[in-house]
Amino acid sequence: MSFKLNHSLAMGILAAGLFSACNNSTTKESGQTTESTFKVSADRFADLEVLRYEVPGFNELSAQQKELAYYLTEAALCGRDIIWDQKYKHNLRIRKVLEAVFETSKADRKSDNWKKFETYAKRVFFSNGIHHHYSNLKIMPEFDQTYFAELVNGADVAQLPLDEGQSVDQLIAMLNPVLFDAKVDNKIVDLASGIDNVVASANNFYEGVTQQEVEAYYAGKIDATDTTPISWGLNSKMVKENGKLTEKVWKVGGMYSPAIEKIVYWLEKAVTVAENDQQKKTLQLLVEYYKTGDLKKWDEYNIAWVNDVNSRLDVVNGFIEVYGDAIGKRASYESVVSMKDMEATKRIAAIAKEAQWFEDNSPIQPNHKKKEVKGITAKVITVIQEAGDAAPSTPIGINLPNANWIRQQHGSKSVSLGNIVHAYNEAGKTSPMLKEFAVSEEQIKRAKEFASLAGDLHTDMHEVIGHASGQINKGVGDPDQTLKNYASTLEEARADLVALYYVLDNKLVEMGVMPSLEVGKAEYDNYIMNGLITQLTRLNLGEHMEEAHMRNRQLVAKWAYEKGKAENVIEYVKRDGKTYVKVNDYDKLRKLFGALLSEIQRIKSEGDFKAATDLVESYGVKVDQELLKEVKDRFNKLNVAAYKGFLQPQLTAEMEGEKVKNVKLEIPENFLEQQLYFGKKYSFLPYKN
Ligand SMILES: [Zn+2]
Repeated sequence: MSFKLNHSLAMGILAAGLFSACNNSTTKESGQTTESTFKVSADRFADLEVLRYEVPGFNELSAQQKELAYYLTEAALCGRDIIWDQKYKHNLRIRKVLEAVFETSKADRKSDNWKKFETYAKRVFFSNGIHHHYSNLKIMPEFDQTYFAELVNGADVAQLPLDEGQSVDQLIAMLNPVLFDAKVDNKIVDLASGIDNVVASANNFYEGVTQQEVEAYYAGKIDATDTTPISWGLNSKMVKENGKLTEKVWKVGGMYSPAIEKIVYWLEKAVTVAENDQQKKTLQLLVEYYKTGDLKKWDEYNIAWVNDVNSRLDVVNGFIEVYGDAIGKRASYESVVSMKDMEATKRIAAIAKEAQWFEDNSPIQPNHKKKEVKGITAKVITVIQEAGDAAPSTPIGINLPNANWIRQQHGSKSVSLGNIVHAYNEAGKTSPMLKEFAVSEEQIKRAKEFASLAGDLHTDMHEVIGHASGQINKGVGDPDQTLKNYASTLEEARADLVALYYVLDNKLVEMGVMPSLEVGKAEYDNYIMNGLITQLTRLNLGEHMEEAHMRNRQLVAKWAYEKGKAENVIEYVKRDGKTYVKVNDYDKLRKLFGALLSEIQRIKSEGDFKAATDLVESYGVKVDQELLKEVKDRFNKLNVAAYKGFLQPQLTAEMEGEKVKNVKLEIPENFLEQQLYFGKKYSFLPYKN
């Protein structure tokens, strides 16, 4: 599984504490050496923004570790063509046309039409193909067919992807409906009910087969009594040959072989500089899997991978997630090269170590406290490179492997991508959201200084001591039975409240994980502002809160507002027809958070469904539609990108003969240039596979 940060939630402010994925915690800003000058935002077009991320700690790696990172990065990028072809069978041909135009066209690059062409091309590069990375719908160009023909005709013929005997005009005629007709191959993954999802989806996982045929094929193979089943269909395209269903396996010697051979080449180099025997064995198994396409090998590899816990560097590389296939069998190529985030790991360990103190000092009733509490150890990684389906749009958390039996019998790795989250937070500081919705200059200043760390600490405590805290009374069932549909909203509220209660506690200053209580105040400002105002930007007019995390945040903020009303703890401020919220008394707000935590723990411990219903329905669900309209109007004027993605760091090896002497890491600034560079350096597949 991978957790993505999507839509307007990617607006930044306080992002870390607000991720809808629960399994994440984040890195803090120390170690981000160039923080003050580092420019996070690199490009903005259509509904997209491209950001840059730093790789703190890379320079402290040993020469051997850097060499390993370099080989794994090269391996990652060598699979880039695969994701393009998997998404849609014409993607590589179209990309080659775009590249040829950029490199050889003499067209006026200042004209309106050219700008439209460039925006279209950047959107295509962002999505690894001509369908929107999130909506899955075809991206429609804003220039017309005449201009397209002009551009293609003006490009160097030798660079165009022409079939044998095909003229440039024939190529243009072939591409016209593909690019300009919204009805042709409109959606790459179509999950609509009551249709053939395999036939309706324009992805390149199947050809000439129906959903029924595919399902019958696997039904005949799968043994329901097998306790260690392979992931059927994971690494192949399914086609019909001479009336028979066949899997074209993605392996050396099979489909995508030219790219996979390169991946294997670099992985084999990585084997020679592995940090330890377990990592070496893991990488060797991955190589064997790519060479044979054997899905049993893939399982063996995954088991070795979950057991590789001592290495500083780690890599995800393969056909991993199945979201791209409407029936969830075939996996998209992706790679994430990373290293352990030592700073965040230290911070989380410090919090976990004090778990008993936090439990003993919690405002919940004594009989609901755990006598012996163990903090959950969350893991944070620093990303060095992402490729394939993981780039430019990236997950913020990864939980693998996907095979259930391996997870149960051998465990799994669940990590959050610390430096990616950090980049989102940094982008949030300059986001117009803060200026528009913060009530005062003081709040803005505090947010810029502390919101990033506050968000990190909130997430850490939510995960490490929040969910782990408290106990259920003897004889009371699990919350999913007792609290039913309110269980997850209240569980998230409980974990949030533990974090909120302690983020304003001097204990954290004493522990050295935050400099002052100002961090806690920044967190309170943001939490209340988001719970009552800014999270409304994610709703449409007429809607109320549905999603569990959103309900939880509104519940906490609204309850605190109502209960503190008499003492003006939180105040709605109206200015020039705009609504703001202001926290007037942080200490009283902390007491309110403590009181609500105690009540929600009681509800969970006693399984009090009636109280759960009252609490969530009274505070967590209903939205003032007039306020919603105001907030939406203000938000729409800001022109904030709905989706964000990332440029990738560039690793360069300084060679001494055949040996890597040193590896340099730079962070490029130009998205389009990087994409064109990737196209030149890592293009190994023909445009027809
Ligand atoms: Zn949670």
